[in-house]
Amino acid sequence: MSRSRGFDEYGRVGEQRFRGAIEAARVGARGAIVRSIGTGKHRLAHTGATQYDPKVPMIPFAAIAVEDADYLHRKLERGTVTVKMRLGARTGPPAPSANVVGELRGRERPEEIVLVGAHLDSWDVGDGALDDAAGVGMALEVARLLRDARPRRTIRVVLFANEECGLSGAKAYAAAHAAELRRHVAAMEADAGGGAPIGLGFNVDEAARDRVRRLVGPLEALRVTDVRHTEHAGADLMPLTGVPQLALEQDATDYFEWHHTDGDTADKIDPIQISKAAGALAVLIAELADGEPLPRAPSPSR
Ligand SMILES: [Zn+2]
Repeated sequence: MSRSRGFDEYGRVGEQRFRGAIEAARVGARGAIVRSIGTGKHRLAHTGATQYDPKVPMIPFAAIAVEDADYLHRKLERGTVTVKMRLGARTGPPAPSANVVGELRGRERPEEIVLVGAHLDSWDVGDGALDDAAGVGMALEVARLLRDARPRRTIRVVLFANEECGLSGAKAYAAAHAAELRRHVAAMEADAGGGAPIGLGFNVDEAARDRVRRLVGPLEALRVTDVRHTEHAGADLMPLTGVPQLALEQDATDYFEWHHTDGDTADKIDPIQISKAAGALAVLIAELADGEPLPRAPSPSR
């Protein structure tokens, strides 16, 4: 995986981990190994969600570090290699968990909601500092910065449970709040690490581009100028059908060095950069809670 500022490369290369066990089993593999989906050269294996297909055997599947994958390749160039796999991973039964929700009530239209979210869970490796304690910190900082601002609409902070293993917290939120989803005027999720803000993605009708561009106007001093249409404004926002969604894009150049590895620890957060990102997010949320609403996203069923 090559380094870049955005998340597109992860989306493209990540397929090898999402579907590796299925594709290998389909051609008769007894087990499979994936080269870590990350940019790091620090001999740390990268974990993440993996899919199985009941139509093919559920084979053992593991990630190894980039260095070890390269070593294996060199050995394979010289002939047959025998690999012995001994995995400690197991899938336990589901356990109760909870979303955490808090609000700053709107002064004029409290029934209209601007959602700002992040996810509470992380993978077992590392401390989850970048993914997604950084986002949780940013969402809480938005609430702290705006606590006395009293905007027209309600700002709702949602810390989702279980993003990483199937979005069950996000699905539970969408189900529990189905009746008021049409009163969610906008939703954003901070789940892109602690890097500097660089742009704004919008999953709203293209006709809203000018309105979105006006939203980033106050952020010019932070060099947040890039505005682009995106299909994925945040994993936990996916079940919020019809709700206009925006994504603060952050510099991810270093993110995939540490993301989903044992190296995802607090020292990887740069206090200056994450402060800029949290400040930018607060400006956007304040404007969404006070200004003219965005057009509703076209629903997929149409
Ligand atoms: Zn995440």
